[in-house]
Order: sequence, then structure tokens, then C-alpha cells
Amino acid sequence: MSCLIVEATDGYARTGCVTTRRGTFRIPAFMPVGTHGGVRALHPDEVRECGAEIVLSNAYHLALRPGLDVVERAGGIHGFMGWDGPILTDSGGYQLVSLAGAARIDNGGAVFVSPYDGTRLRVTPEEAVSIQSRLGADVIMCLDQPVAFGAGAGAAAAATARTHRWAQRCVAAHPGDGALLFGIAQGGFDEGTRRESAAFIAALGFDGNAVGGLSVGEPIAVMEAMARASTEELPEDRPRYFMGLGTDEELLTMVGMGIDMFDCVVPTRLARNGTALTADGRLSLRNSVFRDDLRPIDDACACQACARFSRAYLRHLFTAGEILAHRLVSIHNITHLSRLMRAAAAAIREQRFEAFRREVSDRLRGREPAGPRLN
Ligand SMILES: [Zn+2]
Repeated sequence: MSCLIVEATDGYARTGCVTTRRGTFRIPAFMPVGTHGGVRALHPDEVRECGAEIVLSNAYHLALRPGLDVVERAGGIHGFMGWDGPILTDSGGYQLVSLAGAARIDNGGAVFVSPYDGTRLRVTPEEAVSIQSRLGADVIMCLDQPVAFGAGAGAAAAATARTHRWAQRCVAAHPGDGALLFGIAQGGFDEGTRRESAAFIAALGFDGNAVGGLSVGEPIAVMEAMARASTEELPEDRPRYFMGLGTDEELLTMVGMGIDMFDCVVPTRLARNGTALTADGRLSLRNSVFRDDLRPIDDACACQACARFSRAYLRHLFTAGEILAHRLVSIHNITHLSRLMRAAAAAIREQRFEAFRREVSDRLRGREPAGPRLN
């Protein structure tokens, strides 16, 4: 039985819910990232108040530090980080690219060198599944090998073939403990290879399927073409997850292609730099224009930051180096993306998703909405 219930569709876009052994989350879903087992600067209750129903953590980082034994003794990742809802863990495949030089890859698996203390961690596909299972993840990701944008076709094809062999081994290694197992389609930056990879992964019958290896610096048109080629081959009755995205417009473009799940470190990273996400674009709160701006970040937002604090106060906190500023803007940015996903879901139910997507895009770009003026 599929973990996905689709309640409404509009074109390829869909809304509904995904059920894990630790509860259900609505789609489309934005998953805040807690790489090291905590969404940076936030209490788990605050993360939930931001509208998040599932969070992402990284098995590779947690296995290196503090180590699986510590997390297991704490009752698994949920007990350790104090979050009782669904948790998806990334396997570490992305680190094969982002930490290039600190990882050695062969057909058997990958050897990571810890950035913390130099110890070596060998991860086979089987171990990637076992590590995530021992952590207690509700959604386990296969070990995969993405390629950097600009890698040659030969390198992309080899990495994709290896990703496929590893995916088969992950299926065989899945302990059947109730955790969902997601495959990851790769294929580099060639449409045909993307399509073949997605079809191969689809045929393995995973609980859900991810589109991996995109949003790594390629032009947006390339990313969209690759995502479209991938999603068209992935089964409709399973959740689709785009790894590591992105901006409001990119998220909605992907929802329009039938993607259900997203994660990104950007909203919390931007928040720490003083950048708030709004429907009218980004606000750099450190800017002196906000010195005496007593409006909230977004007067349509009911988050803890917007309900009580002004832009002037937040700017002051950033200027004074107060970490409360990081916390408040992180809360706002995650709330903003959760709200965007809920609004997308409502638009899908009302059969006006494409119009909604265009409205969001026009407003972000400061354009007058298309159609007759009302005033
Ligand atoms: Zn807010």
C-alpha cells in the first residue's frame, strides 16, 4: 500500500498527505533542515509552530558526531532531538559531492573522512540503510552518487549506473521495520539519462522517489528540464521529493511538475545573515532603511516574529549582534515557506494552481498582476 494519499490534483500538481510510522504530513511539504539533529537556533516546538510537520536530518553527520551509539542510547533520533514527528534522514550521498576530496568512492561504497577528527567512515549502500534505521529515521534515503554540474557525460553515466546498483542493494538491505525507503533518481544533466535513471528507480518499487543531483549551480532552465524528465518517469502513486530547493518560485515550479516534498538550508541560513523572505521579495534587515521601520517583516504573517516585533527592532538586534535576531528571522522564514506550501495546496484544491503560481511570481518580481485592474 502506498504511503501517499492524493486528495486533489490540478494539472500535475497535487495535494494530500504522506503517512509514516510517526504520523502524517501534508503535501506539498517544506522540510526544515536540522543537519546535526537540530534546526539551527530553534526549539522543536517552535519548528512545529512554524508549520513544519516533518524535518530532515543527516545520517552521515550524526554517525560521525556524536555517533550512532549515543543516539541509540537516547532512544533514537526522535528522543535525542526532542521531535516526535516524522524525520527524514539524508544518506550522505550529497556529501560525496560537497565534500569532494574528503570522500573516496568505489563500486562497494564510499569512504568519508570526518571533517571533525579525521576518522574514516566506510559507508556501503547496506550500511547507509542500516545507519538510518538505527538512528530511527521514518524516511530512509538510498545512498546515491550525484555529480557536479559540468561533470562530463561519461562521469555522469558512471555515477548514475553506480547509483542504480546501490539502489538495488538498498532495497535488499531494507530491514522492513516500518520506515519508508526512498530511491533517488540521478542522471546528471542529460535529459535521456535523467529519464532512464528515473525509470530504473521507479521500477524498484520504492515507497517514494527523489530527484537528486539538481540545484547544484546549473541554469534554472536546465534544472527544470531535468526535473521534468525525471518526474514524468516517477510513479504517480508515490511521493516525489526534490532534494535541496530553493526559492518560492522554484518550489512552486516543481509543485507544478508533481513534486511533493522539499528541503533547503537556505531559509535558516538567510535568516542568520539578516535576510527575511516575504511575498514581495527578500528584505535585508541589516539595511539602514529599516532603522525606524516599525512595521513587522510581513503584516500578513502571524509568526512569533511578525506578531510582536518590528523591522526596526530586528535590525537593531542584528546590529547589536543579538542571537535573538537569528531565532526570530529563522522562525519567520520557515513559517513563510510552510505557508507558501499550504497556499499552494489550497490553490490545487480550488483548481487555480497555475494562476496562484503566476500571482506569487509576479508579486515577487514587483509586476502588476495580469488581468483587469480593480481600482
Ligand atoms: Zn513572520
